[in-house]
Amino acid sequence: MAKVNENYLKLKAGYLFPEIGRRVSEFQANNPEAKVIKMGIGDVTMPLVPAIIDAFHEGVKEMGEQDNFKGYGPEQGYAFLREAIAQNDYQDNGVDISADEIFVSDGSKCDTGNILEIFGLDNKIAVQDPVYPVYVDTSVMGGRTGEMLESGYYGDLIYMPCTAENGFAPELPTEKADIIFLCYPNNPTGTTATKEELKKWVDYAIANESVILFDAAYEGFITEADVPHSIYEIEGAKKCAIEFRSFSKKAGFTGTRLGFTVVPNELMAKTEAGEEVALKGLWSRRQSTKFNGASYPVQKAAAAAYTEQGRKELQDIIDYYMENARIMRESLTAMGYEVFGGINAPYVWIKSNDDTPSWDLFDKFLNEARLVGTPGSGFGPSGEGYFRFSAFAMRENVIEAMDRIKNLK
Ligand SMILES: *Cc1c(COP(=O)(O)O)cnc(C)c1O
Repeated sequence: MAKVNENYLKLKAGYLFPEIGRRVSEFQANNPEAKVIKMGIGDVTMPLVPAIIDAFHEGVKEMGEQDNFKGYGPEQGYAFLREAIAQNDYQDNGVDISADEIFVSDGSKCDTGNILEIFGLDNKIAVQDPVYPVYVDTSVMGGRTGEMLESGYYGDLIYMPCTAENGFAPELPTEKADIIFLCYPNNPTGTTATKEELKKWVDYAIANESVILFDAAYEGFITEADVPHSIYEIEGAKKCAIEFRSFSKKAGFTGTRLGFTVVPNELMAKTEAGEEVALKGLWSRRQSTKFNGASYPVQKAAAAAYTEQGRKELQDIIDYYMENARIMRESLTAMGYEVFGGINAPYVWIKSNDDTPSWDLFDKFLNEARLVGTPGSGFGPSGEGYFRFSAFAMRENVIEAMDRIKNLK
């Protein structure tokens, strides 16, 4: 009989979102009349904007025309999109990244998971705790961790706690980390890193010959002027960091699918024998072999995000979500919760004033306020006692949700 990849059997059985789904279904079955407000999963609620829809239609139309039809495109993405990204997301902000360092994909969940393939199995991986589960689960699947321990941590993985006590800014690991996942603005805590904090990581990575895997999926939600948008704003980062970005949250592409990964030309890692190899070449080889490019109409639609009209329309939607976040922050603070995030990210991360465990908060909000959020402990042991609300919601639901919490005993 064929053998399974036993690393998959190490994965924690009850994944967070299925467990939430189970509890919500059970509640709805018992309370068929209840209008449940969902502010749990990180998915957008507003439709694609007109500038993007027009470009999307145009791309589809071209696919039906003899002269404009396109078959397989470049695995790394069309030049028009890679150039628009390099110009608008980097060069216009004074960051020297060129189109040939950009790899367009169908989203950054896949990229953050797949990137580990180009690294040897004996690298030590570090993650923030709480964490976007993809980094941990793909490390487990790839055989890069030990078994799950009693503590809720996987063996052989470095966890860096991010809590109110350290201002959600993790300490440098005491044990040498070869690969460091950082997510800023952060999911789930909604907090950000300052330039000084990122510099600390870049300095660490250069000193230890480590690689930072920097997930900037929420870059578009930054509102404060001094918050870095890219790891490459830090000097030296091109020698030690890969950056991931996504159109999912900032442009509503969760169902449309588009993201990109930046692998700078000068980023190197070593062979067992000590020889330096450019990671860009390996990622390019990986993508060319296992990926056949993002859909042409979707790339065409994504490029419209950088037009004047596209920018304006997208900014209005981001402002709408961030106003939701502001309402949530202010209401929850007034109710006595400790509130974090929600200023440069669409997530509000709260802690009860009496250390109620995360799943108890979940059950209380669900049963007494008919409201679904995400228990912080589902993102890692250091999330225990915290709870995440997503600002991806319609305004009237946010207001109603805050009223319901206010009326709780
Ligand atoms: C939503 C999200 C992504 C984006 O995933 P896509 O596959 O591009 O939809 C990446 N990282 C984090 C932390 C996210 O929350």
